[in-house]
Amino acid sequence: MAYSLNSKIRDLKPYDPIEGEYRIRLDANESFLPVPQEIKDGILREVGQVAFHRYPDSLAKEVSAAFADYYGIDARFVTVGNGSDESISVILSAFLMKGDKVLTVSPDFSMYRFYASIVEAETVELQKEADLSISVDKLIQTAQETQARMIIFSNPCNPTSLGLDRDSVRRLIRSVDALVVLDEAYMDFWDQSLLGEVTDYDNLIILRTCSKAFGMAAVRLGFAVANQTLTDVIKAVKSPYNSNTLTQKIGSELFRHPDVLRAGIRKIVESKDQLYYVLKQLEKDCGEKFFVYESRTNFVFIRTPDAEEIYHFFLKQSIAVRLFPGFLRISAGSPEENDAVIQAFRNYLKIGKGELS
Ligand SMILES: *Cc1c(COP(=O)(O)O)cnc(C)c1O
Repeated sequence: MAYSLNSKIRDLKPYDPIEGEYRIRLDANESFLPVPQEIKDGILREVGQVAFHRYPDSLAKEVSAAFADYYGIDARFVTVGNGSDESISVILSAFLMKGDKVLTVSPDFSMYRFYASIVEAETVELQKEADLSISVDKLIQTAQETQARMIIFSNPCNPTSLGLDRDSVRRLIRSVDALVVLDEAYMDFWDQSLLGEVTDYDNLIILRTCSKAFGMAAVRLGFAVANQTLTDVIKAVKSPYNSNTLTQKIGSELFRHPDVLRAGIRKIVESKDQLYYVLKQLEKDCGEKFFVYESRTNFVFIRTPDAEEIYHFFLKQSIAVRLFPGFLRISAGSPEENDAVIQAFRNYLKIGKGELS
């Protein structure tokens, strides 16, 4: 007698972000801003009043209302997740049957394919164009040809940092029978959200997160927004106490400071713009060796045949960025962190600082 693992899990490995202590961490698209003191004070007050012996509010009403308020939408259409990552898992499990086709684009966030494999759905991957943009025509055509039940992608995209404009996304949603799961994890940094019109569609779920723009990656707070029919399903299939009381209280407090949050986002975008601008200058001096993509997010994405060498060169200086084959993804950091990254690039490219600044 012997127990053996089934084929869908046999070769899985735990998710493994880079380990170790690094002076500068720009590998995970976190916010570089510490939580502002007035929000921290509010959080500590809230935590002091938590009824620890009680289960959380399973519908997370207070934090859903606070989120809805911040974005000017209706809280009835909001479901809280333990990070948007959990929402992705719940949505794929619920809306896909074994063998159903889910259409993804590549490159994109890697978790979509992973969660699809756990429910034994079949992932159909549409390669992006050479410039890493999405061809909406091809996406619509592929969805129709494969009779995909779901299309899931991030907009703006992690890792490419590119965005698909609102009209293109609208056209996609209206042209397919599939459920469109639109992961707007980085949309706080851009202005092409469909959040305000989510109930105009019978086939749209939008995902948002507090992990990126609001610097709350530690608390695990994400949201799924959709019309009433879809929302009822998501609420029914999620585990009842997926979001703990501490997280809900922290989230509620967070959205009581909309001006502070918006100021933080402006700072992050400024940092990204600065990093992008200087790297774009470097690009001019490097010819084919180096290309920086237009960024609608809080990170920059760079194509370079030296990606792997640069990655290790940076690690030696205790700077962590994210490596993809032939590409680097670098989150916007504090001015000091950005300077360190830029100097490291200059050192690698052997370009004296004086020539460029
Ligand atoms: C970071 C990220 C998420 C996960 O966010 P959490 O809310 O922290 O789980 C989801 N989608 C994309 C595209 C991301 O980059």
